[in-house]
Amino acid sequence: MERIGFCGLGTMGRHMAGNLRRAGFEVTVWNRTPGRAGDLLASGCREAASPAELAGGVDIVVTCVSDTPDVEAVLFGPDGVASGIAAGGMVVDCSTISPEATRAFAARLAGLGVGWLDAPVSGGSEGAKNGTLTIMVGGAGADLERARPVLAAMGKTITHFGPAGSGQAVKAVNQVVISGVYLAVAEGMVLAMKAGLDPEAVVAALGGGVAGSWILANRSAKMVGNAYPLGFKTSLHLKDLGIALELARQLGVVLPVTGLAAQLEAGLVARGYGDEDMSNLARPIRQLSGMEG
Ligand code: NAP
Repeated sequence: MERIGFCGLGTMGRHMAGNLRRAGFEVTVWNRTPGRAGDLLASGCREAASPAELAGGVDIVVTCVSDTPDVEAVLFGPDGVASGIAAGGMVVDCSTISPEATRAFAARLAGLGVGWLDAPVSGGSEGAKNGTLTIMVGGAGADLERARPVLAAMGKTITHFGPAGSGQAVKAVNQVVISGVYLAVAEGMVLAMKAGLDPEAVVAALGGGVAGSWILANRSAKMVGNAYPLGFKTSLHLKDLGIALELARQLGVVLPVTGLAAQLEAGLVARGYGDEDMSNLARPIRQLSGMEG
């Protein structure tokens, strides 16, 4: 069985590493801020002092950190994965980052004889905890087959889209789609409340019809209650929309709803709400409609 190193024990990573351990892998973890590996150590994971040290003792390194420069720092910074990993190793990046930078990272690692998969995920913190993530894969087919048992311990739907960077491009599409759905659910909930309807009854009735969605079922109550515990941070979704809008710019694609969502999210971050769940897109809709937001 491959030995796994896991870098980034945030909202997603700590559950994903836990599921790898539960699946029977030998797991070594590293997190930038020390002291966040508690439960994982109790379940039998080891902790490394740096990404380089971690990479030196495992076969496959999985990363799940915030943004493109953060993946770059973990891989190629001082004491990074690249300075510890041996030829024949592999990096599987589950962060959501730029497809263009992803191709460059894959090429740099290939120069060291190290394989690469971009494997961004969707399914939220619930999916990470339950091991039911949807995983969008870019990279060589042989690398995917090698890493498939690792991905299968963290997710349910694993789809290969093509060479390095293509998993990240699909993730950008995912973030574009959810922008519109979050905004539409927020508008629907505010309209229901202002019309004096029982929002819970509205959600129950609409959920079985064409308006049904994961976001309607799982996030509308937060919008109604105007309280947004995590989830998925608004600041991270805004980062993802930056990636999607840049890809669209490169390809000459127009994304008006995504542009609107990005502007509203920039306003939320400026108001200090960036660490809330992104269902707080309801805040500006509520506020513009004369409600607390
Ligand atoms: P998070 O809770 O904010 O955790 C971020 C993790 O990245 C932390 O472990 C953090 O370490 C680490 N990190 C950030 N910058 C770093 C750097 N420069 N060097 C080393 N480590 C660094 O984020 P998350 O929700 O787990 O998201 C992680 C990735 O998954 C992101 O790319 C996100 O877009 C993606 N994602 C998230 C969700 C979701 O629902 N949350 C869903 C799908 C995909 P510290 O503890 O030291 O800060």
